[in-house]
Amino acid sequence: MLSPRQLLQRTPIKVFRFADPTTRERSRCLPVPLNRHCAIVPRHRRKNTEDQPDAESREGGVGVGAHRMRPLRQLHRIEYARRTTILQLQPQSKLMSTFPESTELVVIGGGLAGSEAAWQAAERGVRVALCEMRPHQQTPAHRTGKFGELVCSNSLGSLLADRASGLLQEELRRLGSLVLDVAQSAKVSAGGALAVDREAFSAAITERLSSHPNIVIERREITGIPVDRPVVIATGPLTSSDLASSIQAFTGEKHLYFYDALAPIVEAGSIDLSIAFRGSRYGVGEQDDGDYINCPFTRSEYYAFVDAIVQAETITLRQFELEDPQFFERCVPVEVLARRGIDTLSFGPMRPVGLEDPRTGRRPYAVVQLRQDNLAGTLYNLVGFQTNIKWGEQEQVMRMIPGLADAEFVRMGQMHRNTFLNSPMILEPTMQSRRRADLFFAGQITGVEGYVGNAGTGLLAGINAAKMRRGEDPVVLPPEMMLGAMCWYVTHAAAKGFQPMKANFGILPALPTRIHDKPGRNRAYAERALAAADAILFSLAAPVS
Ligand SMILES: Cc1cc2nc3c(=O)[nH]c(=O)nc-3n(C[C@H](O)[C@H](O)[C@H](O)COP(=O)(O)OP(=O)(O)OC[C@H]3O[C@@H](n4cnc5c(N)ncnc54)[C@H](O)[C@@H]3O)c2cc1C
Repeated sequence: MLSPRQLLQRTPIKVFRFADPTTRERSRCLPVPLNRHCAIVPRHRRKNTEDQPDAESREGGVGVGAHRMRPLRQLHRIEYARRTTILQLQPQSKLMSTFPESTELVVIGGGLAGSEAAWQAAERGVRVALCEMRPHQQTPAHRTGKFGELVCSNSLGSLLADRASGLLQEELRRLGSLVLDVAQSAKVSAGGALAVDREAFSAAITERLSSHPNIVIERREITGIPVDRPVVIATGPLTSSDLASSIQAFTGEKHLYFYDALAPIVEAGSIDLSIAFRGSRYGVGEQDDGDYINCPFTRSEYYAFVDAIVQAETITLRQFELEDPQFFERCVPVEVLARRGIDTLSFGPMRPVGLEDPRTGRRPYAVVQLRQDNLAGTLYNLVGFQTNIKWGEQEQVMRMIPGLADAEFVRMGQMHRNTFLNSPMILEPTMQSRRRADLFFAGQITGVEGYVGNAGTGLLAGINAAKMRRGEDPVVLPPEMMLGAMCWYVTHAAAKGFQPMKANFGILPALPTRIHDKPGRNRAYAERALAAADAILFSLAAPVS
């Protein structure tokens, strides 16, 4: 009888090890079906038709095999390859045959993430097919056929290095980002922000990609996940429906979302705990002092708050969102509830039952509950407070919540159409799929928010795809870097109720010593992040050809 290690050694596939010291699990071994028409199927399940390639995989290629989403424990069993064998898939896929034999990496989506991924891989000598469905098929938000089109604002965020977006920009600059390089050349005056001439920006990205000798551009919609070679999927919040179905078949129905209904998030340290108090309803919770931070309202505070919510101006929904009957089906925004009646919220998300305010010894008239949002416990979200109120007004209204008058909001609430993975269940911080190591995801579809963050995940996916091609281990970025922290957050946040996240200092590991003044603290975070970025530059650099 062979030991698991001997079995693994005899398995005729490449094995990559994740030696990330920060992972909670020990290093993982992923069998990689790189450039092979194969899927990994545990031997003890091979007879089960559920694990055979389904009809769609055989015909057009949706994912590998058709593993149903399984509990992590089982997935790890697969990853350790203790009982794995290789099941050869028939190479009949229509998709496979349409890529030239020389294609070493398929990148799907020519937005910020896909453009960056294709560029980084191509710069490292990988022959890339970059597939973009525009202009033949537009998304509801894009207008042109250019790569890297900015769908809304032309600002890439603050330039200041002691701001989260400025720090992220600087990291990407040091890592050799195409998007940041082009943004610099297409820059327009915008005070402390990096804003670009959107036409010049996307034209320059298109030109750089089109003239790269290792990139072939394919203008077509990809309708299923290619199975015969490494892939980066960067199709963004408006991924076309056929491909979304294919991704859903791969991830499991429950792990691909189509709408965002985001509640605001605040930094834990900025909540006034002389007013707000810890506690769980009826004292039932996992932590001794309660799982929630509760902001208690008196009757008059509650009425003033509801009045402000009702009066606040909301963001105008886009036509494609208004026309979609499902848009508000899952989560009704707080302002819609408030308009239904003055006490609707106090019987809904603000109900005070099972809670006692330690200052008064009585049940408050209403409460807003804050739930821990990250493992470090530095961020808290406002439970049930998804909202479409305009951001400026939203902040003013939310500051009326007792205990949040001086809160630091790291994200405001919003609702919009957004296709994104339940990444904590699906992805490694290398941007690889846990189930198929040569399948990467990048951009907004991973749950990262913001133009620069999305370009950043594309950069990492492109670099890691190239590393795999060279037989090297993929890289996990240090969590002290803003980009590393974002990749870490989306792959390690609580899977239940997972919501996208943009760059903010609250997701970085705490500093060794507490710095009380905010600018000083942010500068310390930034210095540590850039030192970490510099330390790994060598391992990320494109090899000299
Ligand atoms: C209406 C709207 C407004 C937004 N405004 C902002 C903003 O102001 N600031 C901000 O930071 N973020 C904004 N976002 C989020 C924004 O989408 C991301 O920050 C960024 O564009 C994401 O980059 P990406 O590369 O992941 O996706 P995208 O930029 O959307 O790129 C994805 C690409 O994939 C292509 N594609 C999709 N499906 C297929 C397929 N099957 N085959 C081939 N190609 C395909 C699409 O045509 C598109 O070009 C907005 C999003 C929306 C929907």
